[in-house]
Amino acid sequence: MTTPLVEMDGDEMTRILWKMIKDELILPFVDLKVEYYDLGLQKRDETGDKITIDAAMACKKYGVGVKCATITPNAQRMTEYKLHEMWKSPNGTIRSILDGTVFRAPIIIPSIHPVVKNWEKPITIARHAYGDVYKSVELKADGPGTAKLVFDGEDGAHKEVVIQAFKGPGVIQGMHNTDASIRSFAHACFKYATDTKQDLWFSTKDTISKTYDARFREIFDEVFQGYKARFEELGITYFYTLIDDAVARVIRSKGGFIWACKNYDGDVMSDMVSTAFGSLAMMTSVLVSPDGNYEYEAAHGTVTRHYYKYLQGEETSTNPMATIFAWSGALRQRGLKDGLQELVQFADALEGACFDTLGEGIATKDLVNLMEGITPKAVNSAQFIAAIRERLEKRL
Ligand code: NAP
Ligand code: MG
Repeated sequence: MTTPLVEMDGDEMTRILWKMIKDELILPFVDLKVEYYDLGLQKRDETGDKITIDAAMACKKYGVGVKCATITPNAQRMTEYKLHEMWKSPNGTIRSILDGTVFRAPIIIPSIHPVVKNWEKPITIARHAYGDVYKSVELKADGPGTAKLVFDGEDGAHKEVVIQAFKGPGVIQGMHNTDASIRSFAHACFKYATDTKQDLWFSTKDTISKTYDARFREIFDEVFQGYKARFEELGITYFYTLIDDAVARVIRSKGGFIWACKNYDGDVMSDMVSTAFGSLAMMTSVLVSPDGNYEYEAAHGTVTRHYYKYLQGEETSTNPMATIFAWSGALRQRGLKDGLQELVQFADALEGACFDTLGEGIATKDLVNLMEGITPKAVNSAQFIAAIRERLEKRL
């Protein structure tokens, strides 16, 4: 390696898997160069969350990062970890610094059939990674009163609209997005569609949200003009529809397209799509920024339930596939950026070894009950990783 990879460590069960993956599948084979950031909750608390910002800035500087799942604190975590503050979601912080779009695609294997039986190809969810409810401010109205939305332009323009005249207590939320971010989201989606030669679907609720969501649709229409010729050449299409219509069509589809979603829709729908494809543990995730920076991770969380079992000395069978693919994705991207063919080949071999292992029916417990046409053998996380290592050595 010539340029370091930004390595972001995380929490709980995925932190345990992270070390196993590095020790067994990466370090013995790659002359690994990393800039390491510990985004574990304890370290975030110690640094006043500065470490998360530093890690995101490093991703901007070096262009490629790989991140372990991390805890987003809630009230219960405040006591559990004796936190000084309820720190924000690290992913939210990284997304808002890098801007860009999150693409989530399932890892598909022949022995696992999607729950939706007409899905034949992967559905990639492109989640807008900036703004809306993830960067909103909220207030409690404690009693009767008027809530207003106010904009004071630097040019002296003043706009004001009443949100609600409350007759009693209630809640208020203010959220935003920017034309610049929506435009780069649109570019990322159209570009990814032409790169992967897949149709692009986009959905919002612009019948109800006639200014906010409508702006997303307008900008997508505008940006599409620059990609139209290329889409026609490739025989792919751009298709806009309402979010509720999109949900119905996705279920009836054969798959094989990118579904661009606003931030919240993408958050929710990616969990539905990944579960329907088999397991949350088989969903990959990459954040692509408009200036070409990449941050790879698994779509799932820190798998807390398994971690508590692990702490009690019980055997766990947590699936490391999505975390391994985060590493292979990041190493491949680093190889492509730096012209290191061997690193790209290693990434391919690592993914190949994972498919070899699952192809022989060796799998973690979450996949065993889903496999068809094969006699699966359930193993624990360490055994699964060891089996991948054996096959990786064979391939190399
Ligand atoms: P989760 O960690 O994704 O786990 C939810 C459940 O999904 C698990 O209990 C497990 O089901 C199954 N699962 C997920 N990943 C798996 C894997 N690799 N192998 C096997 N089974 C897997 O979600 P959560 O429990 O809601 O959240 C836990 C913590 O993760 C929270 O603190 C949350 O803030 C954080 N989180 C982080 C990220 C991120 O960093 N990107 C994303 C989401 C959540 P069974 O228990 O039935 O086996
Ligand atoms: Mg989610």
